[in-house]
This record gives sequence, structure tokens and C-alpha cells, in this order.
Amino acid sequence: MNSKVIIIGAGIGGLATGARLASRGYNVEIYEKEDTIGGKVNRFESGGFSFDSTASILMTPQVYKEVFTYANKASENYLEFIKLDPNYRVFYHDQTTYDFSSDLTKLVPTLEEISIEDSASFIKLLAHSYEKYLIADRYFLSKPFTRFIDFFNPLTISKAIKTNTLSTTFKYTKNFIDNEKLVKYICFQAMYVGISPYEGPNIYTLVPAVSQLYGLWYLKGGMYSYVKALEKIILEFGGKIHRNSPVKEILFLKDRAIGVSTDEEEVKGDIIICNADFSYSMKTLIKDNKAKAKYKNRRIENMKYSCGTFMIYLGLKKKYPTLNLHNLYLGEAFEKNIQAAFQGELPDKPSLYIYCPSTIDDSLCSGGKEVVNIMVRVPNLLFERVNWDSHGISELRNIVINTVKKIKGLEDIEDNIEVEKYFTPLDMRNSYNSYGGASFGLSHTLTQTNYFRPSIKSQKIRNLYFVGDSVHPGTGVSIVLNSSKIVTEEILKNSPRNKL
Ligand SMILES: Cc1cc2nc3c(=O)[nH]c(=O)nc-3n(C[C@H](O)[C@H](O)[C@H](O)COP(=O)(O)OP(=O)(O)OC[C@H]3O[C@@H](n4cnc5c(N)ncnc54)[C@H](O)[C@@H]3O)c2cc1C
Repeated sequence: MNSKVIIIGAGIGGLATGARLASRGYNVEIYEKEDTIGGKVNRFESGGFSFDSTASILMTPQVYKEVFTYANKASENYLEFIKLDPNYRVFYHDQTTYDFSSDLTKLVPTLEEISIEDSASFIKLLAHSYEKYLIADRYFLSKPFTRFIDFFNPLTISKAIKTNTLSTTFKYTKNFIDNEKLVKYICFQAMYVGISPYEGPNIYTLVPAVSQLYGLWYLKGGMYSYVKALEKIILEFGGKIHRNSPVKEILFLKDRAIGVSTDEEEVKGDIIICNADFSYSMKTLIKDNKAKAKYKNRRIENMKYSCGTFMIYLGLKKKYPTLNLHNLYLGEAFEKNIQAAFQGELPDKPSLYIYCPSTIDDSLCSGGKEVVNIMVRVPNLLFERVNWDSHGISELRNIVINTVKKIKGLEDIEDNIEVEKYFTPLDMRNSYNSYGGASFGLSHTLTQTNYFRPSIKSQKIRNLYFVGDSVHPGTGVSIVLNSSKIVTEEILKNSPRNKL
């Protein structure tokens, strides 16, 4: 009989691992607490508008497609990728606007217009960051790091030194570029992993470098199409997904995980994979002290967590041609306002990410209308300083909308709102059990990265695995997809049928 795999959580990590293992003949059952699957990559409909609730920036489509290749499926039968140009439209508070093209021949004149002195250095910064990315991709992002020796060996250490990540993103960027607009553009993107560019290691300049050099992409129907496609292949291979089925506890017998308990039943399994947030799971789902290993409650509480996000979703009555698919508003007092989220404060002059998928996808609302998400970085709940009641939400909402109205072409946006919804760090915690309402899980500090990040395999329990943004290699859809591959390979390696 085929081994039974129980997966806790139908986030990207749980679904992708489920699809991979189901394609290898495992009997996969996924238990998801919510009535929708996808976790942080989710979707909701309201008043005739369809909103991608969080993730929207798609880098490295080859990583998305690889899951399908792995499962012997043709991704083009499930997904339609569209290459973007420009990558971003950037609005600055001095009313200037620039399109950052993914095509070098269009990007260079834009760079020269912003700062002829810094245009070559901008390319140099991309080249250096690209070099780091190649090292990270080959030596860190695809390695399991389940054993001390996997990381602490001369080759890996020499590569880690070569990435020279010790200075912050901001300082590193300033080594190349003086121009404030270009520095903001790089630093804002490096913050996508939820760590401050003024505090976090400079390795995250690989985010703007990868976006620039490989391009950004859009999935027809929005990011949620990916979730639906993963669900489809799981079902095609006979896997099962149980919605509205929160797991209460992982069950152990000696040094093995033997199953999980839900409100209704105890379910037995041969392999248990936990995709629910790592810190939440250690505190809540794993009661056995031996199984917690070094992640006892005190340690979990003392770890560093990424920032939160506040989202405003707008269904608009008319088109706004001033918007591109991905837009950034890079505001004044940039450092103070970016740092606010990491120091427990709300920004009073926020910089924003504005997503408007209806510019290229007419399946999300009826013609002549627009779907818009506005995202601002805010403190996670662990700071205990922000009140996410209706009054707190309304104050921040007004600051954000007034900022958006400063953008030329969006002055009347408030008069044309048909649907308006919000998503706060409280929702993040309540819906997906994200510890502290952090949007991107454990922070990517140097001491919480690579071998030092929680492993994909339990140290003490032979058949217990973890997948998702708080374990190695880290946050972001494509990185979590890497995590699903590493976990799957590790399970196959340890499978009794491979040891015959
Ligand atoms: C606002 C925001 C914007 C983002 N933007 C981007 C972007 O543009 N591009 C990008 O690549 N990435 C982006 N990300 C990051 C990306 O969305 C995440 O890294 C990724 O989706 C995490 O997937 P996961 O599988 O690790 O976890 P999750 O999505 O957290 O999945 C965990 C699942 O477990 C379920 N669960 C929890 N507890 C239980 C339980 N007890 N029983 C059963 N089920 C349970 C949850 O409901 C959830 O479905 C963004 C994230 C946020 C929050």
C-alpha cells in the first residue's frame, strides 16, 4: 500500500509539496483550516470585482513551471504567463513619474534621465547583485541544510563569504548609487521579504536584480490561478483536500509522528508535513517537548519576525490609465516612514505598492472598471502598539487614500470607489495563523537564514517535515516552491522503498 502523507495547511508550500508527492504515488491528504485554499495567496470576490488578496509580483516563472514538470504535467495546459513591460511605474512625491522597463534598451534612457552620473552604477549594482543571486541559487536556496555539515563545509562557507552580505541593503546600494530616486527604488523592492533595508543584510538587492534581469510576469486570472492549477493536479493524482478542517494537534508515539487530530477525528499517517506557520505550529500544534527540539516557547518568542501589511482593496467605477499593473509611490521622509513599520509605528507619509491587474486582465471586473490593491508596510502585532479597530483602520485608510490622491491622474479616486475592503495584521493572524500577524514569517536576519533558519526536517522526529515561508529557504512564492522541492526530495531519499 502507498505511504499516506498528511499535510497541515493548503498554502503554496502545502499544495506544491502535495502535488509533487501525489505525482510520485503517495497517498496525499491535505487539511486546511479555512474554507478557501492558498493561504496567504488567496482571492475574494466582492460586488463584481475579483481581488488577489496578497501576493501579486511574480518573479522566476520557471520555478512555478518546474512543479508541473516535476509532476509530468505540461504547465501550459494549466497556466498562461504574460511578460510585463514595464516592470514598474514609479511615482515620486515631487510629481515625477518613470517607467522601469524590463528591456535594457528602454531602461537605460530612463536611468539617464533620472541621473546620468548613476546610470552605469545602477547597472553595476544589478550585476553584483546578480552574481550573489547565482551563488545563493546554487549553494543555498536549493540545499536542504538538514545537517550541520551541509552548511559548515569549506565550499559553502567560502560561497557565503563571497556573498558578503554584512552591510545593510541601504549602505550597499549607496556604495554604487547617489541618486535618491534610484536608491529608493532599489531599497523598496529589497524590502519585499519583510525586512528593513536600513537593517537587513544586503543580499536582498537580489530582488530588484532578479526582477530586472529575468523580468516580471503576470498569470492570466491573477496569482490565484496558480493555486487553482496546483489543486487541479493534486486531484488528478487522486489526492484529497479537506477544507474547514483545522488541525488541533500533531500526534506522536516515541520518535515518530503518527497522525493529527481535528475537531472530528484522529487521522493516522506515515509522513506528516506541516505547512502551517512554523512558530504557530511549534507553540500550538506540537505539545510534545521532545518534538519541539530547540524551538521551545521562549525561543519562539525571542525570534525576530517580519513586518505586517495593511491592504486596501478598491473596486473602481472607471478606468485609471495613469496606472500600470505594478506601481510604486515612493514618498517623502522615506527612511523614517519605511523604518516606522520595523519600530512599531505607523507611517504618516507612507510609500506604497499599488497593484492594478485590470490594466491587462479583463476577467477581474466588468469593462470600464478597475481593480486596485494598495499595500503599505506596518508593524506586526508583536509590537502591541497599533489598534486595528475600526477607528485605527479608518485613520490609516485616510492617510493612504490622501497619499494616493496626490498622484497625477488619481486625484478623484475616492469619488469613484464602488467596493472598499481592508486586510490587517490581525486578519493575517486570525485567517492563516501567521505568528504575530507577520506577513512574511520569520525575519530574514543573518541568524535566521540558511542553516540557522528552522529546517525542513524535524531534528528529533523521523517522519515530520516542514514547508513554508518560515523554514529554509524562506519567504516569497518561488522560494516556498523551492522549499517544497527540497522537502519532497528529502522524503523520497528517506523513503523505505528507495532504500530497498
Ligand atoms: C501582503 C503580502 C504580499 C505578498 N506579496 C508577494 C508577492 O508579490 N510575490 C511573492 O512571491 N510573494 C509574496 N508574498 C509572500 C507569499 O505570499 C508567501 O511567502 C507564501 O504564500 C507563503 O506560503 P506558505 O505555504 O509558506 O504559507 P501560508 O500561505 O501561510 O499557508 C499556510 C496554510 O496553513 C493553514 N493553516 C494554519 N494553521 C492551520 C491548522 N491548524 N490546520 C490546518 N491548516 C492550517 C493556513 O490557513 C494556510 O492556508 C506576500 C505575502 C503577503 C502577506
